[in-house]
Amino acid sequence: MILVYPEIRDNQIKRVTFEISVLAYSLAQKLNKETGVILLGKDVKGYFSSFKNFGINKIFLYEEDGQFTSSQIGEILTQLVKKEKVSAILFPATIKGKEIGPILATNFQKPFFQDIISLEIENDKFKLIKPIYAGKVISEIILEKDFPLFFSIRQKAISVKEGKSSEPEIIEIEKVDAQAKVKIVDFVKKLTSKIDLQEADIIVAGGRGMKNADNFKMLEELASALNAAVGASRAAVDAGWRDHSDQVGQTGKTVAPTLYIACGISGAIQHLVGMINSKIIVAINKDKEANIFKVCDYGIVGDLFEVIPLLIEEVKKLKE
Ligand SMILES: Cc1cc2nc3c(=O)[nH]c(=O)nc-3n(C[C@H](O)[C@H](O)[C@H](O)COP(=O)(O)OP(=O)(O)OC[C@H]3O[C@@H](n4cnc5c(N)ncnc54)[C@H](O)[C@@H]3O)c2cc1C
Repeated sequence: MILVYPEIRDNQIKRVTFEISVLAYSLAQKLNKETGVILLGKDVKGYFSSFKNFGINKIFLYEEDGQFTSSQIGEILTQLVKKEKVSAILFPATIKGKEIGPILATNFQKPFFQDIISLEIENDKFKLIKPIYAGKVISEIILEKDFPLFFSIRQKAISVKEGKSSEPEIIEIEKVDAQAKVKIVDFVKKLTSKIDLQEADIIVAGGRGMKNADNFKMLEELASALNAAVGASRAAVDAGWRDHSDQVGQTGKTVAPTLYIACGISGAIQHLVGMINSKIIVAINKDKEANIFKVCDYGIVGDLFEVIPLLIEEVKKLKE
């Protein structure tokens, strides 16, 4: 069994879940195994049909009211991995996946392979590729089939294409006596209408060159014209101009949009590691020696306070 841990937020199954389902199916085919997905919580039946086109054979259902802590989920998964003899479990490389995955792997005294960008079977072994040293080195790791194996897969590393259609069998999992050390009382959602940074197709990001929080209104305007999300460098976040949830980079989010427009961002390695996999990178910077110009597809050497208003005007004209 190749098991998928889904990413569900705001009652929505996130795209990365289907990316890893596609991967799970291709691994399962080569290993001659089945695929499964686990769903936890109340009212999750509505999600069943979403998995019909990805070759998922089984949906493991753990129906219970309330919020689960990461250690409780770790316990539930531990029992499931043992009972179903799971060979590999794929987590999304999201905050949740990166937290639960290592708890589970530790329960089996096994390593957890984080932030993988490619995973396949070659010569009857697992071959995985992952960036290390903040993305400066790409490592290739060969693993024996010493099951169970634990991985987290970077978002947008795998393209979503619908696989074999299936009618997954629904299996209720036995309840686990997992006492929580902490109790989640409530989740309070930030009031925002923003597009999810990690799902956005276009990102307009600002750095220290934006000078202050107020100037980000200009980026918001460009983003709204492009139907994009607004991101930020750590310098902009540390200055208090943007929320940490907007930060892109090593200690922020990893993104891979079709278009990334970096405004007043120098291109430090810790920023690049979070956005280097964007399809097209556009940089606006007044310093022609800025590192960002070494990685961008299109570079505009100029004052962003002149360039961005022109861009907004042009985008608006095009939309008319
Ligand atoms: C452990 C660690 C983790 C880190 N994690 C992250 C991370 O997750 N994300 C991240 O971003 N950084 C991270 N950093 C910080 C990183 O090293 C850089 O300090 C940071 O990315 C710099 O942000 P910046 O490019 O906005 O600022 P700067 O490097 O100061 O660059 C500002 C740029 O704006 C340009 N500029 C100024 N005015 C204008 C103008 N009017 N028009 C056009 N261009 C203009 C300048 O030429 C300059 O290139 C981390 C650092 C460490 C040590």
